[in-house]
Amino acid sequence: MTLLSVQHLSKSFGGVAAARDVSFTLQRGEMLAIIGPNGAGKSTVFNMVGGQLRPDGGAVLLDGRSITTASPQKRFRLGVGRTFQVAQTFLSMSVAENVQMALVSCRRESGALWSSARHRYRDEAIGLLEQVGMADAADAPCSALAYGDVKRVELAVALAGQPKLLLMDEPTAGMAARERADLMDLTASIADAKGIGILFTEHDMDVVFGHAERVIVLVRGRIIAMGSPDDIRQDPEVRRAYLGDEHALEKPKGLNPA
Ligand code: ADP
Ligand code: MG
Repeated sequence: MTLLSVQHLSKSFGGVAAARDVSFTLQRGEMLAIIGPNGAGKSTVFNMVGGQLRPDGGAVLLDGRSITTASPQKRFRLGVGRTFQVAQTFLSMSVAENVQMALVSCRRESGALWSSARHRYRDEAIGLLEQVGMADAADAPCSALAYGDVKRVELAVALAGQPKLLLMDEPTAGMAARERADLMDLTASIADAKGIGILFTEHDMDVVFGHAERVIVLVRGRIIAMGSPDDIRQDPEVRRAYLGDEHALEKPKGLNPA
């Protein structure tokens, strides 16, 4: 069954149509990228799927059930996860503690129980850290990690919520090229192994063409193209509209790191 179905979503801010009749589907285990120039409406669409924004029209269905007006919390409980930057306040905690904290809050135990919960979930946290290749750093403070490793911990934190659908808004922003490819390889393998659908926005074309199975191109709130990376790369309208530079989409050639 289709994991996510976005149907005819629209959203305006004042006179600006940030999303117009946006429709697409996402299957379990699939990686779908939304790309487009600045202001195209990527974050708007993303936030209507995550529940941070209410659409003016259209519907969002998860496993065939409408979540169009559900709160972000409700969506989270239904399996819509999102990566967040590890908060500054948690940088003093260890890597494992950050993941344990996420496990505790996913079980909806109150913060007051944290001190007693501290030792619970340790094994589960280590298990998640193994999946992202960070188990060896379990007891290091997050503040001591390299940026790319923080991103891996953020992924483990998101996985603690056992998402069916994971939303990643520019997951590789600020990372070096090698780290970007590594993080997205890891994300792809986890998505595949766990059957998690991944919806991500991304500026970096190497990441998009190297890792997305399908790509949606948004321009001024409207989907102008949707298809495989190869289709998108060759689409003349995309070349014209996107970035206004027909060589901009050439970069990914020979890029697939695997
Ligand atoms: P992208 O993520 O592709 O850069 P956005 O979804 O952030 O694009 O923005 C799409 C359009 O909607 C832009 O013109 C932006 O200025 C406008 N917009 C987005 N969010 C708001 C908001 N909260 N209030 C007013 N205008 C907004
Ligand atoms: Mg954005």
